[in-house]
Amino acid sequence: MRCELCGSDPRRILLLPLQRTDGRLYTYACEECAKESSAFCYIHGRIHQGFSDGSTACLFCVEEMVEVRKPYALGIWSNLLKILSPTDKEWLTSAYELGSIVTGDSEEITILRFIVCKALRTRRTPEEVLREMDAGHSVTSILL
Ligand SMILES: [Zn+2]
Ligand SMILES: [Zn+2]
Repeated sequence: MRCELCGSDPRRILLLPLQRTDGRLYTYACEECAKESSAFCYIHGRIHQGFSDGSTACLFCVEEMVEVRKPYALGIWSNLLKILSPTDKEWLTSAYELGSIVTGDSEEITILRFIVCKALRTRRTPEEVLREMDAGHSVTSILL
């Protein structure tokens, strides 16, 4: 199989979570192209996780950023509960229930992970995402 980015015919082909012009959410790429792509994490030497909207994030980076912000998780969560509408709160509650089944984490850590993940997917900082949620009084910025 050929690399869809450079056309070479490598021994090893990788599946990159990069959107194609035909709407397909993945791209077959050789190792060199994969490493040069936006879906590759230099820090961890790993290919990003792809999301249904075509954005990508390194899950190892997500976990590291979550780890650093854990002391603030409870503060972030209680602040969100103050500003969000009842519908948004309901959504967040069901989201963290789903998330915490997978990870076994508490609700504030699960929500923190949503925020960090969204930040990396949109190439912003978690603080920027939080400010946006704060300004919009809405969780849509981390959902979509
Ligand atoms: Zn290539
Ligand atoms: Zn990474």
